Amino acid sequence: MPAREPIDAPPAIRNRLRRLGLERREDLVLHLPLRYEDETRVTPIAEAAVGVALLVEAEVLDLAVGRAPRRQLVVRVGDASGGILALRFISFHGSQQRALEAACAAGSRLRIFGEVRHGFNGLEMVHPRYRIVAADEPLAQSLTPVYPTTAGLGQATLRRLVARALHDADLSELLDPDWCRVQALPSFAAAVSLLHAPPPTVAESTLHDRSHPAWRRIKFDELLAQQLSLRRAYLARRQQVAPVLPATGQLAQQLECSLPFALTAAQRRVAAEIAGDLAQSSPMQRLLQGDVGCGKTIVAALAACQAIEAGYQVALMAPTEILAEQHFLKLRAWLEPLAVEVLWLTGSLSGKLKRQRRQQAATSAQLVVGTHALIQESIDFSRLGLIIVDEQHRFGVRQRLELRRKGGNPHQLMMSATPIPRTLAMSYYADLDVSLIDQMPPGRSPVRTRLFSADRRAQVVAAVRAAVAGGRQAYWVCPLIEESDKVDLQAALDTHAVLSSELVDLRIALVHGRLRSEEKAAVMAAFVAGEVDLLVATTVIEVGVDVANASLMVIEHAERFGLAQLHQLRGRVGRGAHESVCVLLYQPPLSASARARLKIIFEHADGFEIARQDLRLRGPGEFVGSRQSGEPLLRHADLENDADLVELAQSMAARLLHDSPERAGRHLQRWLGDREDLLRA
Ligand code: ADP
Ligand code: MG
Repeated sequence: MPAREPIDAPPAIRNRLRRLGLERREDLVLHLPLRYEDETRVTPIAEAAVGVALLVEAEVLDLAVGRAPRRQLVVRVGDASGGILALRFISFHGSQQRALEAACAAGSRLRIFGEVRHGFNGLEMVHPRYRIVAADEPLAQSLTPVYPTTAGLGQATLRRLVARALHDADLSELLDPDWCRVQALPSFAAAVSLLHAPPPTVAESTLHDRSHPAWRRIKFDELLAQQLSLRRAYLARRQQVAPVLPATGQLAQQLECSLPFALTAAQRRVAAEIAGDLAQSSPMQRLLQGDVGCGKTIVAALAACQAIEAGYQVALMAPTEILAEQHFLKLRAWLEPLAVEVLWLTGSLSGKLKRQRRQQAATSAQLVVGTHALIQESIDFSRLGLIIVDEQHRFGVRQRLELRRKGGNPHQLMMSATPIPRTLAMSYYADLDVSLIDQMPPGRSPVRTRLFSADRRAQVVAAVRAAVAGGRQAYWVCPLIEESDKVDLQAALDTHAVLSSELVDLRIALVHGRLRSEEKAAVMAAFVAGEVDLLVATTVIEVGVDVANASLMVIEHAERFGLAQLHQLRGRVGRGAHESVCVLLYQPPLSASARARLKIIFEHADGFEIARQDLRLRGPGEFVGSRQSGEPLLRHADLENDADLVELAQSMAARLLHDSPERAGRHLQRWLGDREDLLRA
């Protein structure tokens, strides 16, 4: 199959097609109908049901043009059933009127497709599609497809282009026909032909709910392309050469001995998995998963020790400055006593300091902690051995690609507290090895979740006072405001002012995204040190903040937050031995979806269960945000409903790559064309 078989159409049409993501003939073949219209049978007007789109064939009885201002053309038609139908055109051309007059005079027949409704004087259709036909003109043999389209691109044009693409494009079968038969999947050519032009005998509901075997074949093929692409990327990376970091474990051992706690069995297990990877000569691609608070940071630090001991540098990247700084402080406290040079690098450093730090990062620093600055700045690490990405789902594809280009082929450890449901992991993360920490450190008390409607706010304020009186600290998260940073800031300032007047004897601080990084750092440091009782915050604290003495989390306008966010925020408390509470303060009335979210977060503490519910509510977009290139990568398959196909595709991908890499390549070309790159991040 040629790599690119451009669509043969005038440039203006090609531009519009491009807006739909259609560049090649193959793309048109895979541009599947949204729904169908049935023009395969004629309905006698006398039997036409109101509210249904149908085809009638009739002769023009008369035409009338209404006067301005409501100038409209009304054409009355009738057929042998004795029924009469008015066709109403609110806008029309003179040429159209003349053609209809001629048809009337000649007694020609019209084929008219539209939805019948009750009009002023009987049945009518508004702006139906119609055509003057010869008496013996055959009816359509298949249902008429209606495609997703864009302004300036009519259905007729699309239909013509798709039909031609079906004729010209290579639809050859790339899978084993016997296997397809066993799986009850039609051939690729049969599947696309049927979906673009279904025979009238097909049960339309199976097209609509996509359960028809032709749809299953298409969804399978799409999932197969995804699996092939990820698997190829995985195998390609296995071919690359990374520094071998032997697991002597001395530095790691020292670190472990210096900790005030013992590692959990789960931490020990994943640390060993990572240590094994680092000792290999192919780059590690591992995703470290574990619910909020399970202790991923220390596992990352142990991995860093292994690289540092082997004489390599380590870069740790976090999505926010606050988180990066917290990591820096913690890692420095752990590692500097072991004579490891830890450096903090953020985007907001001043020019001279930044240059100096960059120089240091490039040469002497053993562990560099930072935000995106790590990738945006041109740092040439002299010996980068390991990259650690925290909260990896917050980074974009391009940022991760950039990072990989930094110096050689370092090992990569990605960490995420957003649990990924199994089907999602199998599809979008199929190119990564996954380690899971499925256990919390001992001595944690479960967080109690309580729902308060806004009219009981006073009780919540009293709870803050009580927590602080008991020697604890609290968070108050401000309402999430999507529209603009400015409004967001104002809301935070307001909340802070109101709480300050309500809780005069408390030490209250405010942290928000607009503060300069030193200011943010100072506020956080004061909170960590226990010099602040109540921290009022926008969602800048969402990820990673770790203060064991904080036992109360209040989330104002909780109904505006997504499930993952609520779970993350709630995970900020319950980190010490104290009884902890998360208050979801909501503003009634609740929308159905807000109610559903709050119910889920109230009923479940387990991040995986919450994620599964989230996937059900919203689809995979949110989970794989960083993997998307704007358009969803899966257009047809649906991970929730097509889980069986995901598994089938996974095993077929392995088999096809092994038995017939050439056909695997052609399948990828058919489905992804040039988009494959984006899947590889
Ligand atoms: P997360 O996985 O959410 O990033 P952290 O790494 O921030 O979690 O760990 C949360 C807290 O638990 C930190 O204060 C950390 O020092 C502590 N911690 C980690 N492992 C253990 C353990 N095995 N026993 C006790 N506390 C631990
Ligand atoms: Mg963390």
